[in-house]
Order: sequence, then structure tokens, then C-alpha cells
Amino acid sequence: MSAARRPKALIAGGSVGGLFIGNMLVRQGWDVDIVERAAAGLAARGAGIAGHAELTAVLDAIGIDTARPVGIEVSGRVAFDRHGNERARFDYPQYLTSWSLIFNLLRAAFPPERYRVGVEVLDVVPDGARAVARLSTGETVTADLVVAADGMRSRIRGALAPAIQPVYAGYVAWRGVIDEMKLSPRFLAETFERYSFCFPPGGQFIGYPLAGADGSVARGRRRYNFLWYRHVPEGAALDRLLTDDSGHRHDHGIPPPLIRSTEIAQLRRDAGRDLPPSFVEVVLRADQSLLQPIYDLESRQMAFGTVALVGDAAFVCRPHVGIGVLKAAQDAAALAAALREAGSVTDALRQYDAARRPPCVEAVAFGRHLGDFITRGLPDPGAVGLSYDDIIRDSARLPRAEALRRRVMEEGIAS
Ligand SMILES: Cc1cc2nc3c(=O)[nH]c(=O)nc-3n(C[C@H](O)[C@H](O)[C@H](O)COP(=O)(O)OP(=O)(O)OC[C@H]3O[C@@H](n4cnc5c(N)ncnc54)[C@H](O)[C@@H]3O)c2cc1C
Repeated sequence: MSAARRPKALIAGGSVGGLFIGNMLVRQGWDVDIVERAAAGLAARGAGIAGHAELTAVLDAIGIDTARPVGIEVSGRVAFDRHGNERARFDYPQYLTSWSLIFNLLRAAFPPERYRVGVEVLDVVPDGARAVARLSTGETVTADLVVAADGMRSRIRGALAPAIQPVYAGYVAWRGVIDEMKLSPRFLAETFERYSFCFPPGGQFIGYPLAGADGSVARGRRRYNFLWYRHVPEGAALDRLLTDDSGHRHDHGIPPPLIRSTEIAQLRRDAGRDLPPSFVEVVLRADQSLLQPIYDLESRQMAFGTVALVGDAAFVCRPHVGIGVLKAAQDAAALAAALREAGSVTDALRQYDAARRPPCVEAVAFGRHLGDFITRGLPDPGAVGLSYDDIIRDSARLPRAEALRRRVMEEGIAS
């Protein structure tokens, strides 16, 4: 890695995973290109995500200034039953941020001339100590390292490990975001600033505040975000949700404007029946509803010679664990550290695989455990022996995060 020629990395995927590793490698002196398939619209993609001190540590280590708040502070979590009675409380100071806020910070830190949009990596072929990638533009790129940060349905992983496929978890997440100004004074006074859980039959509802679309955390400019996980067995029920009015089934997720109005009307009726009144308001006032089927994905290898899988391309854990973005950051930190320390890219990738696979396997298993009652369509977490208290505590537990935080703090990321 100390050769006179700067080592070259090609990163497939310009979302958070690609940008974490891209930024780290640039700061370690690599010659880095990111190619992103989507021509536009990434910055507007995300909804709310739970932030973690560990994530701030990674951003700081890259050199991204986090002195400015990157989210909204909440002091803890609270669980309600379906009638709105408080049933559990857990003190857990946390900042609630948004996906796009993190994305925008990472994007602004990366050299713009090395980030290409509307370009897809079609395939990657090993060539001795290097790898050759073929792009949708007709170009071929030879690199010392190719990082597949191309998400859950990674084309690169699909070619290297075709047996590894996302597995439907048996439920979907309905999501919605509402401008603060559209919510009632009562909701703002009593509920807005709390990280809230409740348990409608066969599902789980979560609501929390997030920054405004412009990143503002000032009163009046913020938004509220809800997630409603609902048991939907594979087959006719799922087909109906993913099929638009023209009869086309969107296997990989239906774009929000194409969700059938009858399905949204049903969601609203069910909210009236199954949620406490405060959360009914949230569902009814959301500008747009999003629908995401939930999957698990587990790779048996994160490294293939000089090709590394990062983030959702390698492992997807259910969102109850709340660490998709942090996991991508942790993968990137581990990969960057291994590339700094090892004598060759292949050795570094072996080290990376050994370091990251166990905690990722653990995180996927943990997500399955927390969502098991929804997968099975059981009326309440109690049916699998989990109390409300367990759920709101467990979902705050981060597998191995403490170890990562120490490592990031002690060693930094930039060389
Ligand atoms: C309902 C739900 C709630 C969530 N809540 C949270 C949360 O609270 N906290 C949290 O941390 N995470 C959460 N996540 C997960 C989080 O959004 C993901 O883990 C994270 O975005 C993964 O980033 P990534 O870069 O690995 O992959 P992605 O964000 O999927 O990005 C992959 C990128 O690669 C591009 N691409 C694909 N193929 C190619 C190709 N061949 N060539 C070039 N580019 C390509 C795609 O266009 C895309 O931009 C949630 C997810 C869901 C579904």
C-alpha cells in the first residue's frame, strides 16, 4: 500500500456505504472513484434513522464536522398499549437524525469530480492482483480494490455468490413523514418529542421526530416520522400491496406514487381501529406513504480476492436494530483499517472479512429475534416471551458497538 503508485479503488454504489469507504480511502491517499447507478434523487430518499454516538465518532474521524447538531435529541423511549396507556419507559439519550442528513454530509466531503451518477457497474472480473470492472458507459476500469456498496440486491455479489439472496421476513414497513406544522398542538405538546413505540395486533408502530427537509432542527421546521411494521404473509396479500393499478407487481418495492389508493385507505381505516388516537393523527396526516417489505440478508463471505462487500450488499438486518447506516460505517472503518495495516489488498480483505462477519451475523440474528412476533403474525410480543420493556431496551442495544467506538476513538480512521 506504500508503493509509489497510488492504489486505485472503484466503488460501486454512491449511497452511505460507498461514501463512508470512499471518504476514508481518499483520506488514506487512495485514488478513488465512486459510480452510482441512480441518475438523481438519492439525497431525498431517506426517512428518519436513529443516530448513535458511534456514528458521530466515525464521521468525526473522517473529518466531517459534527459540532453542529446532526439530529434531534430525545431522552429515552416510551411504549404505549393500543389504547395509549404508557406501559414501559427506558432512559436512553439518543439523537434522531435523518438518512439524507448523513448522506449529504458524506457527499459534501467527497471530491465531486470523482463521484459519477447514472453509471452502473455491470460486472467485475478478477485479473491477478487487480480487478477489472465493466461500466454501463462502455468503459472498463482496472483497480487494486473494487468495493461492492451496491445495496441489498448487489449485482456484484449476485455474480460472485449467486446463492445469497434476500429472504422476506413476513412483514412490511409502512412509513410516513409529516411536517411539524401539520400536527395538532396536543400531539406536539404530549408526543412529538418522545421516541414512542406501540403494539397494534400483529405489528409494531414507532414514531419519532426528525430534522426538517433542509436539515433544520429548529422548532416549527422539524418533521415527524412513523414506521408501522405489519404482518403480511408472502403470496396474495403481499402481491396485492406491491401491485400498481396497471397490474404490474413491483418485486423490489413499489414506488410511493404507485401504491394503490385502496391500500392507503385500508391502512388509514386500520389505524383508526388499532392505534391510539395520537398515532391515528400521524397516519392520517402523512403527506405520502411509503411501503417497504422487510428482508434479512446474510453473506457467507464479505471478501472475494480484491473485491469487498460493504453495507447492505453484504448483510441486511431488520430495521428494529436501527443500525443499517452504522453497520455500513463500521464495515468501512474496518476495511480502511485493514487496508492500512495489511501488506496486500487480499490480506487486508481477509482481515476485514474475519473482523466484520461475526458482528454482522449477530446483528441479523438480533433483528430476527426482535421481529419474530411480527413474522409469525402473533398479536403481541408477549406471545414470544418479550415484554414491552424488553423490546424498547433491546432495540437500543448495539451488538459490539462499544468495541468499535473504542477502536475508532483510539486509532482514528485517517492515516
Ligand atoms: C424500513 C427501513 C427502516 C430503516 N431504518 C434505519 C434506521 O433507523 N437506522 C439505520 O441506520 N438504518 C436504517 N435502515 C437501513 C439503511 O437505510 C440501510 O442500511 C443503508 O441505506 C445501507 O446503505 P448502503 O450504502 O449499504 O446501501 P444502499 O443505501 O441500498 O445503496 C446502494 C446504492 O448502490 C446503487 N447501485 C446499485 N447497483 C449498482 C451498480 N451495479 N452500480 C452502481 N451503483 C449501484 C444504488 O442505486 C444505491 O444508491 C432502514 C431500512 C429500512 C428498509
